[in-house]
Amino acid sequence: MSDSTVSTAPRGIGANSLTAIAAALLALAYSASFWRQLLAADLPGGLRGALFLLAAFAVVFAFNGLLLSFVAWRRVQKPVLAMVLLLSAGAAYFMDGYGAVIDRHALQSVLETDLREGSEWLTWSMLGYLFVLGALPVIALIKLPVRYRTWPRELAARAGFMIAMLAVMGLAVLPFSREFSSTARNHAQLRHLATPANLFNAVRGYAKHAAPEAPIVVEPLGADAHGGSRYGVRKPVLMVIVVGESARADSFSLAGYARETNPQLAKLAPVFFPNVTSCGTNTATSLPCMFSDLGRARYDESTARGRENLLDVIAHAGLLVEWEDNNTGSKGVALRQREESMAKLPATLPCDADGCLDERLVEHLRDELAAPGTADKVFVLHQIGSHGPAYFKRYPKQFERFTPTCRSVSLQDCSEEEIRNSYDNTILYTDHVLAALIRLLEHEAGDRAPALLYLSDHGESTGEHGLYLHGAPYALAPAQQTHVPMLLWTSPAFQRWRGLDTGCLQSRRTQPLSHDHLFHTVLGLLDLQTTAYEPTLDALAGCAPA
Ligand SMILES: [Zn+2]
Repeated sequence: MSDSTVSTAPRGIGANSLTAIAAALLALAYSASFWRQLLAADLPGGLRGALFLLAAFAVVFAFNGLLLSFVAWRRVQKPVLAMVLLLSAGAAYFMDGYGAVIDRHALQSVLETDLREGSEWLTWSMLGYLFVLGALPVIALIKLPVRYRTWPRELAARAGFMIAMLAVMGLAVLPFSREFSSTARNHAQLRHLATPANLFNAVRGYAKHAAPEAPIVVEPLGADAHGGSRYGVRKPVLMVIVVGESARADSFSLAGYARETNPQLAKLAPVFFPNVTSCGTNTATSLPCMFSDLGRARYDESTARGRENLLDVIAHAGLLVEWEDNNTGSKGVALRQREESMAKLPATLPCDADGCLDERLVEHLRDELAAPGTADKVFVLHQIGSHGPAYFKRYPKQFERFTPTCRSVSLQDCSEEEIRNSYDNTILYTDHVLAALIRLLEHEAGDRAPALLYLSDHGESTGEHGLYLHGAPYALAPAQQTHVPMLLWTSPAFQRWRGLDTGCLQSRRTQPLSHDHLFHTVLGLLDLQTTAYEPTLDALAGCAPA
């Protein structure tokens, strides 16, 4: 049967099979550093550890398969795979030989290396990698017969394959969600070691940052803002906005949680809003979003960056604005205001490499308020709050009320109950911090009109539906990650200053609210008049004279 014209059976393997082979090869031979570091990470022991490794392989394999499916077409698949194999061979050499990670910075230094420097990299070892992992597989690839069907059938086969890859990922993650969550959080560098996903991300990141960046022109907002008639006539106003971290409404006893996590706040009786949703499920999204006037529907990072926000509007009206940070910064929100990092200030309270306890914010505010002056002021205090997975580091020993706790940064070392206990202790400590702030403000009420508004950036999962931490895609995120606590405390001095109807405040507490309301509610509370104000998004509109 040497005459090919009489042969009717199609020769070669299918496009999906080629994708699967390449996905498995890349996951194993080209990602050795990934497996070495994963094995060095704190894995569960015994059979569970072995099964977790298997699940990790399934995830990396399926992810590669998904990625490579997009190019599995006639005349496209082979050239692209050849390029991927060659680049991956080079990446493997740098990762295995130099312990390098592949990200946009690494790519940048490779691309900006001149010929002389480049020639220094050309070692026998590198040539070995390029031959064994590059040239040989590429030659095999060229020789390999692959058959492609008509495009509608190929399309159907591709769709089926991609669904199968997604299913493999889902099934592999589900029984090990605790291990995956904390490994991803504690060993974030791993994502730069799985080839070719790391190459893909590096190229994407490089392209994004290499594009000539237009100078950011920040669109002014509320430049017409000015204080109403009570400014300059009555006591100076003092508003403290506390931005919570990973605090979820479900764990606040003020929201009906069975455990007493808010014993101190309960006595101070702030107005608690039990139906508030967040803009995002991570800090980097929620923080700029909640301070912008865009709202969740119109929010995106670059639009927000090119636009002033709530703090700018308040500053336009002549109030002093300061951001006090005990987390990882304001994400650009306080770019045009004064921003201080608690970790960088001398402190009597201990701070370690992971940051400071939130009482540092109380101590610092006390110092700030001791400064003379009669300016109207707004302080934003950004908590470390309930930041995981090291919940046990967020509160001092005396707040370890719910036990046993999880004393490990690896969630897989702990039971669901221990994780939940530690998390609840962080809420108990936040209760203490907020109460301490309110008591501090009560002392100020002789000279100023103080108020405090607390709102968390997003929630947190502690094992519900098998999920941990936060950051789930918003459309799929469980309520634990998007349902956030919000409360308002106003001193009698502030109520008089603003002419607040406190019965009206109480009647508004159960309405459905979101981060979209923060911008306008704060402007309303502060009696700042500007065209940027939208009364329909002011949760308390009508509770005080306009
Ligand atoms: Zn956050």
